[in-house]
Amino acid sequence: MTLRRREWLKTITAAGVGALGYSLPERIHAQTTRIEPLALKDYQPKSMLHVPETHVPRSRFPAIDFHTHLTWIDRKGKTDVVHHNATIEEILKVMDAKNVRIMVNLTGGYGALLEETVHHWQQPHPDRFIIFTEPWYGKIRLPNYSRFQAEQLEAAKKAGARGLKILKTLGLYLRENVTTGPLVKVDDKRFDEMWETAGSLDMPVAIHVSDPEAFFLPTDRFNERYEELSAHPDWSFHGKDYPSNAELQEARNRVMQRHPRTKFVCLHTGDSENLPYVSECLERYPNMYVDIAARIGELGRQPRMTRKFFDKYQDRILFATDATPHGDETPQQIFGNELYEIYYRFLETEDEYFDYAPAPIPPQGRWRIYGIGLPEEILKKIYYENAARLLGL
Ligand SMILES: [Zn+2]
Repeated sequence: MTLRRREWLKTITAAGVGALGYSLPERIHAQTTRIEPLALKDYQPKSMLHVPETHVPRSRFPAIDFHTHLTWIDRKGKTDVVHHNATIEEILKVMDAKNVRIMVNLTGGYGALLEETVHHWQQPHPDRFIIFTEPWYGKIRLPNYSRFQAEQLEAAKKAGARGLKILKTLGLYLRENVTTGPLVKVDDKRFDEMWETAGSLDMPVAIHVSDPEAFFLPTDRFNERYEELSAHPDWSFHGKDYPSNAELQEARNRVMQRHPRTKFVCLHTGDSENLPYVSECLERYPNMYVDIAARIGELGRQPRMTRKFFDKYQDRILFATDATPHGDETPQQIFGNELYEIYYRFLETEDEYFDYAPAPIPPQGRWRIYGIGLPEEILKKIYYENAARLLGL
C-alpha cells in the first residue's frame, strides 16, 4: 500500500464510516444514549417482519397424536404408582376442538400399573385413547430377565397395550444395578427377546434414544441450547461415562437390523438436526419410521430440507407432539389448543418466522420456524394413515 493511500484511508475512517458501518452522527448518538445492560433471560425481541399469519384452528384431516404423556409412572418412591396428568374430560375437550381423533399415551407403565392405565383411559374410550407399555427395568438383575421381559410384553398385549415405549432411559440412565454400575447399552442382548416378541405380537416400538447434539457438548457460550440446558442442567450428557450421540444412534440401528420383523418408530425424528443421516437410516432399515414430536423447532428452521424429507418419506412419518398436560417445565410440550395450532401451522402453511412453542422465549433455542405447506395427500398420511396402519386400526 502506498503512503498516500494509507493517509487517504485514515482520513475516510476519521470522517465517518468505521468498522461497524455507522456514520459519524450515529456514532455520536450511540455514545450519548446510555443503554442499560440486559440479561439474556430478559431479552424477548419482537419480530418486525410484515408477513402473513395464518391461524389454523383445526387440522385439515382428523389426526392421531402418536406421542403423548397422559400418565407417568413414578419409580422414585417405594411403591410404584400411576400419575394421571389430567382428567379425561379436560383432554377430550381439546381433542374435539382440535380435530384429534386419537391420542396415544406412550408412558402407560408395566404390570399392574399398566392395567390401571388401560382401565382408566382406554377402556371407557377405546376409540379415543391407545396405551403403550414400558419395560420393567427394575427387574434387570433377574437371571432370566430376557424371558421375563418378553412374557411381560405378552401379558401387556392381553391387558390392552398396543405398543412398546422405550424412553431415553435405555442408553443414558439405566445401569447394571438399575441406578448404579455401568450403563446398559441400547443393543444389549438381554432385550433381544423383547424386540422379537414385539414384532411377533405386531406391537410397534416407539423408541427414543439420544437427544439434541448440543446436550453432549459443554454448556458454554457456544452451545446453541445454552438457555435450555441452564434451565435443565440434568439434561446435559457431556462428559462422565455417557456414550456419544453417534454411538447411541448406531446402537439403535443395530437393534433395527437384528429385528427386521419389528417396526420401530424413532421418536423426535431420530436425529432431527441431521436429516441426511436420518434419511440414510430410513433407506437402510425398511422397518424404521419417525415421529415429529417436540422437534418442529428443528425441522422448521431447515424448511427446505424438511419439505424434501416429507416428500420422500411421506409413508413413514407420524404426526406427534409429545403433549404433556400441565407440563410447565417444557413449554414446547404443554398440552392445549395452542400447541396443536402451532403444529398445524407448521405442517399446513407457508407462514414465515413464527414461534415453535407457546412460550414468550423459544425454549429449545433462540430461533423461529417456517411452515412447510404440505399438500393434502401427504397431510392425510402424516396426520392419520401412517399411524393407523402401524397400530392396526
Ligand atoms: Zn415423550
